[in-house]
Amino acid sequence: MSATPQTTAVAEPAGGAARGLGELCVLMKLGEIVLKGSNRQLFERRLHNNIRAAARGLGEIRISQRKGVIVIRMDDASDLRVAELGERMTNVMGVVWVHLVRRVPKDIDAVTEVAVRSMGDRHGSFAVRARRRDKRFPLSSSEIAIHVGSAIKDAYDYPVRLKRPDNTVFIEVDKDEVFVFTDGMPGQGGLPVGMSGRGLVLMSGGIDSPVAAHRMMRRGLKVDYLHFSGMPFTGPESIYKAYSLVRQLDRYQSGSRLFVVPFGKAQQQIKSAGIERLQIVAQRRLMLKTAEAMADNLGAETLVTGDALGQVSSQTLTNITALDDAVDLPIMRPLIGMDKTEIMDQARRIGTLAISELPDEDCCTMLTPRQVETAAKIPDLRQIEKRLDAEELAEYLVSTAQLHKPSFLGAESMQEQGAGSREQ
Ligand code: ATP
Ligand code: MG
Repeated sequence: MSATPQTTAVAEPAGGAARGLGELCVLMKLGEIVLKGSNRQLFERRLHNNIRAAARGLGEIRISQRKGVIVIRMDDASDLRVAELGERMTNVMGVVWVHLVRRVPKDIDAVTEVAVRSMGDRHGSFAVRARRRDKRFPLSSSEIAIHVGSAIKDAYDYPVRLKRPDNTVFIEVDKDEVFVFTDGMPGQGGLPVGMSGRGLVLMSGGIDSPVAAHRMMRRGLKVDYLHFSGMPFTGPESIYKAYSLVRQLDRYQSGSRLFVVPFGKAQQQIKSAGIERLQIVAQRRLMLKTAEAMADNLGAETLVTGDALGQVSSQTLTNITALDDAVDLPIMRPLIGMDKTEIMDQARRIGTLAISELPDEDCCTMLTPRQVETAAKIPDLRQIEKRLDAEELAEYLVSTAQLHKPSFLGAESMQEQGAGSREQ
């Protein structure tokens, strides 16, 4: 399979389908979903819903499920619209490859004609790779490849090279049609969002938490986001960053919700009730307690953070254990074993790095002590929380949350009060 990170549709004049060039459509290869046995149908239905959500605004689409493969056809399949659809599909979790393909009748002459045209604007060596999902087709895979390959050679005199060719023409015989294509775009892989339940991501304006969110969505978790700002003692910049980050991540999962909690006053309360060296860990515990109280309202069954072991002083093994102690819900930390450079590479790839690098005033740095405790003792932290009445404070903080809905497809941007009531 070609690893070219671009898709070029087979070159053709408009209205190609009518003149027998085959209808342009999107073909997607699925990954793990094909392994899921009897649950497969449920997963496929979830994936189809996610595909429809990602295709919003592009008009009517028709999804056809094959074994390990999905074909999407459009009513008005202009090249541009199909290309836009293909581009969007590269962000749908559970899809491994996206190809723009020509859908051709099951006739070797028609297939050959489209394949020859597909090489019209190409140069260099080529190979033809054929496979049959329908074994009843009268020619074997290698017979198809040889037939089509010699026609291309006759037409352009390009050299055939089976190992590492400059161009590859793919021919896939299916039940009702044959697909012809030349390139592919890598998808995200993973599992369809929503298949693994719901989670609440603690979202700072930093580099790590957006990558953590992406990783969990990729494992099928549908996520909401919770951001703590230092308001009223800091400006709103961190909120703008969190908003833009969630909007960017909404490409991978539509309908994202971002809850913003002004945390400045609570941080000051911790300061007056606490021990200076424990300030950061105590703040993080209160964030988690607030997240847990909110998760209950949202139907989320897990919390997600961007912690990486040892990256900063609040992330020593002892401190991470002290954070786990603050809540009953499981905390998922998909970056726990990653280096900063690896995390940054991922952030660049998913389109969040540039936003994370914008300057802001993070609430955590506001009251950072001169020395941060690297081995926080759980009894000390519990003592501080007793003085604070942390559980009640967490409930109160939930009631101050503001809801935003940053949408990548540019729909409404809503702001509502509170996350106190249960919603789904
Ligand atoms: P990040 O790059 O995600 O900010 P970090 O390396 O700066 O991470 P910390 O600041 O210690 O590390 O934060 C660790 C995790 O705690 C973050 O990944 C995030 O999940 C959560 N977190 C920290 N600050 C906030 C905040 N202001 N709002 C929500 N969650 C936060
Ligand atoms: Mg941070």
